[in-house]
Amino acid sequence: MSPSQHPPVGVDAADRFRDASFPLIFERAAPGRRAARPPVVDGAPMAELLGEEHLRAQPPGLPEVAELDLVRHYTQLAHRQFSIDGNVYPLGSCTMKYNPKVHEEVAKRFQDVHPYQDEASAQGVLTVLAELQDDLASITGMDTVSLQPAAGAHGELAGILMIRAYHEAKGEGEQRRVVICPDGAHGTNPATASMAGYDVVEVPTGPDGEVDLDAFRAALGPNVAAVMLTNPNTLGLFETRILAIAEAAHAVGAQLYYDGANLNAIVGRARPGDMGFDVVHLNLHKTFTTPHGGGGPGTGPVGVKAHLAPYLPAPLLVRRDDGSVGAEGQRPTAIGRLRSHYGNVGNLVRAWAYIRTLGLEGLRRVSTMAVLNANYLRVRMREAGYQIAFDRVNMHEFVARPPDGLKTLDLAKMLLDYGVHPMTVYFPLVVREAMMVEPTETESIETLDAYAAVLGQVLRDAQRDPSLAHDAPRNTPVRRLDEVGAARRPILRYQVPQA
Ligand SMILES: *Cc1c(COP(=O)(O)O)cnc(C)c1O
Repeated sequence: MSPSQHPPVGVDAADRFRDASFPLIFERAAPGRRAARPPVVDGAPMAELLGEEHLRAQPPGLPEVAELDLVRHYTQLAHRQFSIDGNVYPLGSCTMKYNPKVHEEVAKRFQDVHPYQDEASAQGVLTVLAELQDDLASITGMDTVSLQPAAGAHGELAGILMIRAYHEAKGEGEQRRVVICPDGAHGTNPATASMAGYDVVEVPTGPDGEVDLDAFRAALGPNVAAVMLTNPNTLGLFETRILAIAEAAHAVGAQLYYDGANLNAIVGRARPGDMGFDVVHLNLHKTFTTPHGGGGPGTGPVGVKAHLAPYLPAPLLVRRDDGSVGAEGQRPTAIGRLRSHYGNVGNLVRAWAYIRTLGLEGLRRVSTMAVLNANYLRVRMREAGYQIAFDRVNMHEFVARPPDGLKTLDLAKMLLDYGVHPMTVYFPLVVREAMMVEPTETESIETLDAYAAVLGQVLRDAQRDPSLAHDAPRNTPVRRLDEVGAARRPILRYQVPQA
């Protein structure tokens, strides 16, 4: 295709926004308009109180808009944004559950605490964090937890660096060069291993959808530093041979890493620590509430068995003899700091509130309902004409695909026109045209039925008229993007359209 046939992507997208009369906030601005004014204190304007020397010479480059313009701008933007508050969002692996608003309220109570405040005046929030450390340790079956990492992938890096430090301390750092990941692993697992300097060896998925135990045993040896697994795995299937896997890994001196992104399936019922895992990360934003998507905000605490505790990222929160909570002193064996201050405190408080609201019984109900909902939707999708990759009882998610001849991408785009979010598509890589569905525990049976009905409808539409599939989405503010063009000929600067 010649460049002239290929409109630059950014301009194309900007045109569509303009068609839908959606200007940038700077384009809504007019000189002299104000949404807020600096306060007047005792009759004196702020500028006077501050003194000339504290005023900036040039005004900041902010848009001058009235309050109503400002409110409309962000309200309209919010309506273009897809969110779990708007409709069902069964994005496999990412656990897009409803985040109860009461936990936002709790997190807001702590918004004025400053990280440089002295510990004595911040005992409330520090106690919450220390309790969360303990709760997460008992939920995962681990001995010690650090709240530092700022995402699941960040927790993975912490975990693999700890494993490296452990092997180095035993004088085996040189010898152990390999991290084993299954072929269905989330991309962050091999990426983490490689960032930490390891070679990645992939083991295949067996015909039952679980790790192929013979191939796994064959890959093990004295050169293996770690095995990274998630259980249930990315096909939503419980690894029933996990105890044999753990035993075989430990027999060659390797450490077993648990990717906790799928904890929603087992929370309150089974613990990675009891399955033989040495390190886990949790995605608090997935399992324990926090609105997420679009890259943040996340929190990925890591928990370890006692033999790895010396390497946990600093600082840990410790309970002092006088009953107060504070950051520990120096711990030279720590892998170092991974994040400033105490971690992503707002998310940590949300997770604490979520766990304390539900209690153990409530957490058990989370995993029970998550698994029940996923199994129900699997059967409904099969009835609607989809193929199920491993059609057996699954955990909190499952992998489907469309009948031969139809493309997952087309069907996913068609779903957008019905105002529902697609499932995760083309992951895991081991299933062709994969559709990975995770309804979570927070959707009702009526919503699951409605979603299954839409899935059936788009399948029939795509079979009846291929152009319907190919042209979708039709009703979204931006239609199908040219992803190749976006990569090859990116337009990185927005230009104000000429009248
Ligand atoms: C989400 C996810 C990760 C990465 O977690 P982030 O918090 O997005 O960094 C790792 N593994 C699996 C299976 C996941 O679903």
